[in-house]
Amino acid sequence: MLFDSPLWNSVMIITGELTIVIVVALLLCGFLLVAITLYSIHNGRFYFPRLLKSGLVLMEGLVKAICKLIGVDDKEMVTFFIRLHNAMNVKGFASIPVDDRAVFLPQCLRNARCPAHLTPEGIKCQHCNQCGIGKTSEELEGLGYRVFIVPGSTFIKRIVKKYHPKAIIGVGCLMEVKEGLEMCDQFGLAAMGVVTLKDGCVETVVNWGDILETAGIGLDNSMVPDDFHISAR
Ligand code: SF4
Repeated sequence: MLFDSPLWNSVMIITGELTIVIVVALLLCGFLLVAITLYSIHNGRFYFPRLLKSGLVLMEGLVKAICKLIGVDDKEMVTFFIRLHNAMNVKGFASIPVDDRAVFLPQCLRNARCPAHLTPEGIKCQHCNQCGIGKTSEELEGLGYRVFIVPGSTFIKRIVKKYHPKAIIGVGCLMEVKEGLEMCDQFGLAAMGVVTLKDGCVETVVNWGDILETAGIGLDNSMVPDDFHISAR
């Protein structure tokens, strides 16, 4: 019988040992990633950014499980991931001319009485001044950005395929921004994420200054109005 043969027993023992080694190695990698991330958060700087970024993408499930196990809020990890992603993309983003950039704003930032209508190009702002989208989109378009108010999740992919922007500023809640940044990585786009201050489906809140600051990255000073506070060029 094959199952009673010494060869079969050896194969099973080696397979079992290999499985244990792989599981232990994965767990060690997961704990190491979480430790480097927490240390980076604590010190306010990024250690081994490339390793962290790849690791957090590849081992997302394990990292979340470890965070739960040791009582760390995984929102903190996602926020860190977005900050890390932005920091790594800032140089690429800065090198892209504004004509090749686009801004995607979530429709939940609108006032509940927004008079704008849905069009094939997204929701078209009527500049009624009931929310910050009107003024901010005017400023961004004045710089040369294409600005879209996103009605749904498939919209961004459609617009990217249509206009081929090379750089994107994506605004949204934590998970939307994280998933958007991962999608942009797949498309090879230099993306910067701005997270809203309040989640929800209506009248969410964002720091408009964060969007303007991000929009000013890499642009000539003479192009940028005074209320854009540029942190990176
Ligand atoms: S400013 Fe634009 S987006 Fe905001 S409520 Fe008015 S029409 Fe809607």
